[in-house]
Amino acid sequence: MFCVSSSLARNTVGREGTIPANYVQKREGVKSGGKLSLMPWFHGKITREQAERLLYPPETGLFLVRESTNYPGDYTLCVSCDGKVEHYRIIYHNGKLTIDEEEYFENLMQLVEHYTKDADGLCTRLIKPKLMEGTVAAQDEFSRSGWALNRKELKLLQTIGKGEFGDVMVGDYRGTKVAVKCIKNDATAQAFIAEASVMTQLRHNNLVQLLGVIVEERGSLYIVTEYMAKGSLVDYLRSRGRTVLGGDCLLKFSLDVCEAMEYLEANNFVHRDLAARNVLVSDDNIAKVSDFGLTKEASSTQDTAKLPVKWTSPEALREKRFSTKSDVWSYGILLWEIYSFGRVPYPRIPLKEVVPRVEKGYKMDAPDGCPPVVYDLMKQCWTLDPVVRPSFRMLREKLQHIRAKELYL
Ligand code: AMP
Repeated sequence: MFCVSSSLARNTVGREGTIPANYVQKREGVKSGGKLSLMPWFHGKITREQAERLLYPPETGLFLVRESTNYPGDYTLCVSCDGKVEHYRIIYHNGKLTIDEEEYFENLMQLVEHYTKDADGLCTRLIKPKLMEGTVAAQDEFSRSGWALNRKELKLLQTIGKGEFGDVMVGDYRGTKVAVKCIKNDATAQAFIAEASVMTQLRHNNLVQLLGVIVEERGSLYIVTEYMAKGSLVDYLRSRGRTVLGGDCLLKFSLDVCEAMEYLEANNFVHRDLAARNVLVSDDNIAKVSDFGLTKEASSTQDTAKLPVKWTSPEALREKRFSTKSDVWSYGILLWEIYSFGRVPYPRIPLKEVVPRVEKGYKMDAPDGCPPVVYDLMKQCWTLDPVVRPSFRMLREKLQHIRAKELYL
């Protein structure tokens, strides 16, 4: 027997499946004090003299990369070699990087990987990165905490989704079907490192479970999660519709999501992007919250430019006041999506009119056929004052009550 959990393994008779992670290796959440970086040797805009001070005392092969001061847009590779520091100009030419104008690279990580293997004309090969203060090498941190998977054991099979920043593929990891978010671009990969590190800290049956991460030297990042066979909740609702999905099913999805959110609430995580498109459905019809790209520990603030206006609470849009209570607002919108079988919220209202109307107290009508007790919960979630909104714990208790008393029929 295998339990549904997060480590992939083979049992004594050679069958493969998932087993609890703690069976094989202790895993911990990635929660380093420093910033996780794919390029911890990149020091940004520092001068030649600062670079030389950082590479002191001399140690052959100790290196860093900085932005070039003399040639804006170019970089400089600084390497300690036999007691002195050599500075090599990295030329940015037609979207590629080169030192010797013979060998060209897509990004700095590929360049560093190349010269780590072979000096190839430099005074020495690159041996030891001089880490930027406050950063931690992401590769090392995922390995240390037990979340690094082996690229050789992952087979990528076919593309199943297009995310904003990379493809989502179905894959096979040691015989288990998995979903893999593939991020090829180094700058984007850096942003997704944050998503993956949040996921290492979370474990709940209604959150899409991270299985592990592969950080390639060349800058690609693979985030491997459990495979959710029935895709996104919004597509699931739209394709089945009210003829297939009964009230019990809608209430079950509402409860699934609420339980995940209650867990985040109890652990002080704010999701910030809760919506039916970010909830996935498993083969056995369990709804699980995914897309932790914007999820942060409760205290931090964020750029509001890219927020999904129809799902974000007024105080979060206005003053970047994100909290569990702003997630509660989004949860109200998600309930509305569930009970309208995947309609886009605020139908027939032009996007630019949504916020002014909502701020004056406008609330969407109940979707057709929505039980009044559920619509009442939506309206509570859309209370303008966040303090007065219910907690996820309260919402979960009410939903369980609705289910127990069959008030949804
Ligand atoms: P995302 O970039 O996370 O928004 O994912 C884009 C699309 O890929 C989703 O809408 C799903 O259709 C699909 N997808 C993402 N993650 C998974 C998963 N774990 N299992 C199955 N499909 C997924």
